[in-house]
Amino acid sequence: MSSLRAELPLLHDRHTHVSFYAALAGAADLSGCGALGAALEKLEEQKGPLRLGRGWRNNLYELPPAALDRLGPALVCNVSLHSFRMSAPARELLARDFPDIVAGIDDQNWVERHLPRVFSLFTVAGAYGIPAFMERLSGLGVWVVEDMLVSPEEAALPLARDYAGRVKLWAAPEVYRRLGPEAKKAVGGIKLFTDGALGARTAALNGRYSGGGKGMLLHSDAELTALLKEAAGLRGRAAVHAIGDAALEQLLSALERLRVPRGELAVRVEHAQLITRAQALRAKRLGLALCMQPNFSFDSADYADRLPPEYRRANNPFRMLLDEAGFVPGADLVFGSDGMPHGAGPALEAALFPPYPGQRLTLEEFRAGYCLPDLSAGRLEVEIDEEKRTAAVEVRLANAR
Ligand SMILES: [Zn+2]
Repeated sequence: MSSLRAELPLLHDRHTHVSFYAALAGAADLSGCGALGAALEKLEEQKGPLRLGRGWRNNLYELPPAALDRLGPALVCNVSLHSFRMSAPARELLARDFPDIVAGIDDQNWVERHLPRVFSLFTVAGAYGIPAFMERLSGLGVWVVEDMLVSPEEAALPLARDYAGRVKLWAAPEVYRRLGPEAKKAVGGIKLFTDGALGARTAALNGRYSGGGKGMLLHSDAELTALLKEAAGLRGRAAVHAIGDAALEQLLSALERLRVPRGELAVRVEHAQLITRAQALRAKRLGLALCMQPNFSFDSADYADRLPPEYRRANNPFRMLLDEAGFVPGADLVFGSDGMPHGAGPALEAALFPPYPGQRLTLEEFRAGYCLPDLSAGRLEVEIDEEKRTAAVEVRLANAR
């Protein structure tokens, strides 16, 4: 009685990092490790000139330099992709080609300001992994993806060429400027950052984290204004990462001051997790779109150690955005995963069964904001169990290629 069957189109994941995750797919997966010993074992199994690790749960344990150095060249990134650890032998290996990263990787301030550059270090050798990764995604029910940070070193062009209609590319301004004319055409918009992430306690809050700190804004007001103007000139479309209410405040104020005509700059706010009702109404007036991640509703539970209760309740306020601020799924409210994790099953469960009622989406809202317009690429056969709070998904591709 409590189980419901439905058929949905495949997903259009509007925020992920295909080239980066394809490279990471070959890295040791530390996400299941709750302590140092298990993580080191996983990293030891990893072969190659540079051991790569991902999914380090840095809220549970530290990776001491001495332990990491014994592995030889090793580079590890945490679950939220905002914190990194690099062994001394890796520093030697990378000193020539990536001196800036070697010098800056331990400085969280530097890292937050140069994330695209750090990601490019992972993607530089990983472009070969893209076809296998795209196949994995389609198996998970994800057909169209937006890669939020392509880098010049890896294959922006092959990605766009080989997966025409399935991949949309965004690039940081410093990356975009260096692309050739053909690659520039393949990139649909400019990606900007205003703050960090909740996992690294760097998302910028008006309030405070439990245990102190307010996160960080990455730019002064003047710098952000200049970046937005530049994005308008370069491509006319910007996707702006803003998670904390202070970051959203800065972005909204900058756009209100700038008064760029809507035809000259279309802005999509990425994440917008801690957007307040007043900010949502201002965003609506400015004609902004929001690109949000239903899976990040679980941050309310996962980051109970760092987010005070009022922020846990305020995270991903979908009901407020839809019922009070008038956002429309599929029009100015769209969804993506940021790859944490990918796939239709986890996306649906997060949308339908989040920690707080204010985070819940209906199946229709999910379809409008997250799915392709029709079933031509394939379909998701969904079985939803309201009692168990689960969504089982079977993926049927139209033609397995
Ligand atoms: Zn992202």
